[in-house]
Amino acid sequence: MTAVPKSAVVIGGGVIGAACAYYLSRCGLAVTIVEQGGLGSGCSHANCGYVCPSHVLPMAAPGAVWMGLKALVARNSPLKIRPRLDPALWSWLWRFTRNCNTRQMLAAGKAIQALLVSSRRLYDELLADEGIECEWESKGLLFVFRTAAAFEHYASTDDLMGREFGIRARRLAGEELAAFEPALKPGLPGAWLYETDAHLRPDRLMSELKRVLLARGVTIREQCPAKRIVRENGRARAVQTAAGELEADAFVLAAGALSPQWSRELGCRLPIQPGKGYSITMPRPVRCPATPMIFEEHRVAVTPFRSGYRLGSTMEFAGYDKTLRRERIELLKAAARLYLHEPLAEPVQEEWFGWRPMTPDSLPIIGASPALSNVWIAAGHNMLGLSMAPGTGRLVAELIAGEQPHIDPQAYSPLRF
Ligand SMILES: Cc1cc2nc3c(=O)[nH]c(=O)nc-3n(C[C@H](O)[C@H](O)[C@H](O)COP(=O)(O)OP(=O)(O)OC[C@H]3O[C@@H](n4cnc5c(N)ncnc54)[C@H](O)[C@@H]3O)c2cc1C
Repeated sequence: MTAVPKSAVVIGGGVIGAACAYYLSRCGLAVTIVEQGGLGSGCSHANCGYVCPSHVLPMAAPGAVWMGLKALVARNSPLKIRPRLDPALWSWLWRFTRNCNTRQMLAAGKAIQALLVSSRRLYDELLADEGIECEWESKGLLFVFRTAAAFEHYASTDDLMGREFGIRARRLAGEELAAFEPALKPGLPGAWLYETDAHLRPDRLMSELKRVLLARGVTIREQCPAKRIVRENGRARAVQTAAGELEADAFVLAAGALSPQWSRELGCRLPIQPGKGYSITMPRPVRCPATPMIFEEHRVAVTPFRSGYRLGSTMEFAGYDKTLRRERIELLKAAARLYLHEPLAEPVQEEWFGWRPMTPDSLPIIGASPALSNVWIAAGHNMLGLSMAPGTGRLVAELIAGEQPHIDPQAYSPLRF
């Protein structure tokens, strides 16, 4: 029988790494996080902040291939693929295509739902237990439509979600929508409201998690890139970092979109592509929406925080490209102008992009590395890392501590690729 680990090093201080560190420390392990930048400086910094159990349907779904083909040629589509000679991208797209059928969509949806539901509940506990102030609000999420046809067509998705996942949205048509959300322009055909969803301010969450982790005795090494795993007798003994070797009994790779760099060392494929998304953060406009909302036909999200207001989204497969493309920011603004009385506010506080860690089957990769049994992977959370973080952290801690997992981890196995 293997001894229960007493210490762990987590590589990557995004929301997933921080959640893993939190639950590992609650299991009694001495934990160190190594982060190449500052804690929460990656994709977890300025995302849209939705904690959304409504988002069970994966991106790999029937119809997505057609959308993908259009994205190869379209100029101003919210989904953009920049074609290039990159075998990893084409292999990813091929795998993605193979997942775009109803059977796999529903199976992935069930596995996504397990993590979303667990995390939504664990957020309530985590925030209350630790007194975390991150502008959490539980006001639901509106899916807003601009054309009557698309609004009515969504009824079939609502039916499917009700039948397969037990999730039902409230239909708000015409005048009812205008009364519910006066920040929207008049004349919109309607919206669907998911009442179980919540939102928070991601940068506040990350700074609060840092406070909580430090108070629990977790060591956080920032500006400290991890370079390689040091092996001994078929196990990992240490991780080599810019600040020297860090030994531990267990290791967690939570490096988000940068995780594939570790694939050879861990002896498994980590087919994760960076799915670049943008956000723009402003002060609250005078006629600020009360409820977070997604403009479904334009794929643009709006998040009203107590301390600000954010437009976000778009998805660009452009490799590890660090350019902040103005035209993508303009897409967000142009969409908001179509729906909102007061779409923008001055002065702009931040324009940002992040690399979502996208997998071809829309599921995260959680489990032990096949080559090194004391190295665990927690990466590839796609568009839902914030929404899935506490459930992932708890699951990883249970697996490492040898406890009964609260979710069946099979669907997230690194061996599936
Ligand atoms: C525009 C946009 C909006 C989004 N909105 C939402 C939303 O509303 N709700 C939701 O649930 N999700 C949302 N997401 C997705 C979510 O942001 C991601 O799924 C999540 O942040 C991934 O977390 P992570 O910890 O895996 O990755 P990251 O936050 O990127 O963290 C990984 C960390 O690892 C570090 N790292 C990498 N390599 C090394 C190394 N060698 N050594 C040390 N450190 C290393 C990086 O610096 C980084 O800080 C959105 C994403 C975008 C782009």
